[in-house]
Amino acid sequence: MPETSLDVPSDVPAQPIDIGGIARLQFDAAAELLGLSDSMQDQLRMPFREVAVHVPVLMGDGSVRSFMGYRVQHNGARGPTKGGIRYHPDVDREEVQGLAALMTWKTALLDLPYGGAKGGIPVDPGELQRFELERLTRKFTERTALALGPYRDIPAPDMGTDAQVMAWLLDEYSGKRGYSPAVVTGKPVSLGGSLGRDEATGRGVLITMQEAARDYSLPWEGARASIQGFGNVGGHLATLLHEQGVRVVAVTDAWGGVLNEDGLDVPALHEHADRSGSVAEFPEAEPLNDYGFWRVPCDYLVPAALGSVITKEDNVADLDCRMVVEAANAPTTPIADKILEERGIPVVPDILANAGGAVVSYFEWTQNLQQLRWEIEAVREALKKKMVAAYRNVAETARERTISLRTAAYLIAVERVAETEELRGH
Ligand code: GLU
Repeated sequence: MPETSLDVPSDVPAQPIDIGGIARLQFDAAAELLGLSDSMQDQLRMPFREVAVHVPVLMGDGSVRSFMGYRVQHNGARGPTKGGIRYHPDVDREEVQGLAALMTWKTALLDLPYGGAKGGIPVDPGELQRFELERLTRKFTERTALALGPYRDIPAPDMGTDAQVMAWLLDEYSGKRGYSPAVVTGKPVSLGGSLGRDEATGRGVLITMQEAARDYSLPWEGARASIQGFGNVGGHLATLLHEQGVRVVAVTDAWGGVLNEDGLDVPALHEHADRSGSVAEFPEAEPLNDYGFWRVPCDYLVPAALGSVITKEDNVADLDCRMVVEAANAPTTPIADKILEERGIPVVPDILANAGGAVVSYFEWTQNLQQLRWEIEAVREALKKKMVAAYRNVAETARERTISLRTAAYLIAVERVAETEELRGH
């Protein structure tokens, strides 16, 4: 195993680092390379608008539980702000700020006419009854609605939220403002959602993986992939990789993990997870814990769940993979990122790899505004075109300037946003 005692620049803070810190440092590196003025850097660093609300929920036992809810609109220079709403115990204001900034860069990189935003509530949705989750979502919507709108800020699902949560949001918002399907994306198809939105992030990861595999001359059919997370992103990606003949050898979720060197039977794994609530104890595999997961030999390592999981302290020296594909937001800390670069392991960065959800959200929004529906084939084709174009742009920039894919992606994105800020003036 290579050493990890690298010359890490002194301006990279000691670990552990949170998502907000990761997003800040990644932006700082790009801003410096671009030679942005201090004032422009400030403009792009500071969130445009933040809304923090108290969300009281009448619980099933008659008590009232209090939550805090956040919506951060990071930058809207390129259009209405866009980004998901996360329900997870780790959510705090700084994390939402960081995730909102990532959305600004993601939408710019994919050339979507949006800025970036994110919302979040520190809550474990698994602990709530369905009607409690509905009340939470409605109250949060009611108290943030002033800042939302089809041409202002458009939420979508993220970790811990889904199409049903978006349906409640849509209903609550429309009840006050009139029918407004374009105020939220990732809705159920029967409420104006787009075909192909549910699989879009996983499919986008697959497309960038295929492009990167070709670029770096990595094997494809029969190659081995490990995925952390079996939710909306990891679950769809596993299915698509399996269909492609890529062996999904290891999968973990919040409750456990499974390993099968020959490749897991992904459809059977889905059935098992749907039935039991987790991939753990899938019969045709060996059990795998988190420590073991990061050390499984594979070609493609895909973090598709939490942020800040590939770190110097925990695992980066032991990763036994040929490429990291960031399906999650901010899964790699800056020091771990540097170490991967030194080890010659390319990282396909989050703002590129996982942008498929945002891309099809954009398709959904345009369909809503025009009151029409695209066929699934049209959605998939348009998604592929967008993802491939963005990948090529990033790969070319990286090659030309001898920089990592991440730095290249940030250069493109930050430059685009800085240009629109400049044009808008003061
Ligand atoms: N939450 C997803 C993300 O992080 C999707 C955002 C959207 O569709 O607006 O990219």
